[in-house]
Amino acid sequence: MRIDTIAQKIEAYRNAGKRMFLTSSFQSQSVPLLHIISQIDASIPVYFLNTGFLFPQTIRFKNQLVHDFGLNVIGLESDVAKIHQMDSDHHFFYSSDPDYCCHINKILPLEPILMQNDVWINGIRADQNANRRNMKPEQMGAHNVMRYHPMLDWTKQDVADYRTKFDLPNHPLDAQGYDSIGCEPCTSKAFTDKGERASRWSGMKKTECGLHTALAEETPQIKIGVLKK
Ligand code: SF4
Repeated sequence: MRIDTIAQKIEAYRNAGKRMFLTSSFQSQSVPLLHIISQIDASIPVYFLNTGFLFPQTIRFKNQLVHDFGLNVIGLESDVAKIHQMDSDHHFFYSSDPDYCCHINKILPLEPILMQNDVWINGIRADQNANRRNMKPEQMGAHNVMRYHPMLDWTKQDVADYRTKFDLPNHPLDAQGYDSIGCEPCTSKAFTDKGERASRWSGMKKTECGLHTALAEETPQIKIGVLKK
């Protein structure tokens, strides 16, 4: 059973003295892994990157899951004030330079956590996009942190079946036609014929969250604290 495999892997990391953490975007597809982790060891820190651009429904859903599962969730926010997150035309970077916006709001806040830990558990799946198809269940990432992807071989249907089996809650925006849910400016309603994550950064060249590009490399491609003027 794959859940037993996850439990064994986490026990092995623990026995080896590895410091572990999880990140989650708290959407419906995040729920099975959060539920599994809560059953294995609810004390594992779950970092929640609050970019300041999230849907209020996501914040409420996160609070609900913390209550229901007893999770140890810790919020992370950027040190860069929103007034400094605009380009020279006074547009937020998410519209003119979304990679940089993700850098400020996701990658930089996670840097200290990576430096303090040995294993980063996250719930990406191979069936979500081409980048994730090339990932491995375990692979070294930035700052020599092992990325552990326990859901990599789960399908969208597996996730739905697990949620049904355990009668787990859905993100409130699911019912409104949202499929993959991230920051509000970069999320559209589902494009059902183009894949689950086609609804993210619609109309832009960007297709993947920076957490799974820049931080997937053993040698970081980023410079801490480098900000545009
Ligand atoms: S998903 Fe969009 S709003 Fe959120 S950090 Fe990335 S570019 Fe910015």
